[in-house]
Amino acid sequence: MALIAAFATPTGPRYGLVVDGIVHEWDGNPLTDRPGTPGQALGPLDEMPILPPILPGKLVCVGRNYAAHAAEHHAAVPDEPMLFLKPPSAVIAHGAPIQIPAGIGRVDHEAELAVIIGRRARRVRREDALHYVLGYTCANDVSARDFQQKDGQWGRAKGFDTFCPLGPVIATDLDPSRLAVRARVNGELRQNGNTADMVFDVPFLIAFISAVMTLEPGDVILTGTPEGVGPLSDGDVVQIEVEGIGTLSNPVEVGG
Ligand code: ZN
Repeated sequence: MALIAAFATPTGPRYGLVVDGIVHEWDGNPLTDRPGTPGQALGPLDEMPILPPILPGKLVCVGRNYAAHAAEHHAAVPDEPMLFLKPPSAVIAHGAPIQIPAGIGRVDHEAELAVIIGRRARRVRREDALHYVLGYTCANDVSARDFQQKDGQWGRAKGFDTFCPLGPVIATDLDPSRLAVRARVNGELRQNGNTADMVFDVPFLIAFISAVMTLEPGDVILTGTPEGVGPLSDGDVVQIEVEGIGTLSNPVEVGG
């Protein structure tokens, strides 16, 4: 398994390989190159100018994919994956602020495993689906709950700028079938789920989605959130942790 981080340099974005929390030089791109031998150490991940690990062409999201989360919204578990889209413009990096406009009501965190597609996938079979995965990262599907209720569809509620933190790294060669997925707000554990409890697992989702729309390299699937979602307030720090990947941390700013 390799951990790959994107970071800013004076000459543009670059990728590095992360070993024991330290970013090392790597002259590659995860969309085209297999992770090789780590080069010179550049610095601790948390002190690097981290960028989103991928800039997706599209973000395909799955609603109500954990039965206990559906229940907390008094919603039925769907008999097929319930798909919606988040705009790529919502993506921010590890450490960047989630900016919530004043007066939009309740805004929740949603801790999720994100799947990054590595090869064009169209009508792939469930048993072949994981061959199309580049790797995995942590996602926060930030959701304006009042608009979600009012609008009846979720484009506005899920689509604000900064409402899709992704990162901090891409983990390759991870088994997605049994990973702890957690959210903490100001250090307090709020969500503590496991991908083993998904209604539709990752291979099923890739097969299902790729029967609807072609998945391109770099596209991202947000696989749904376990129970325990809750509101965010100005000054909070929200951390999304997925086992085997790391912790995605973002401060919250309300206003403007
Ligand atoms: Zn979600």
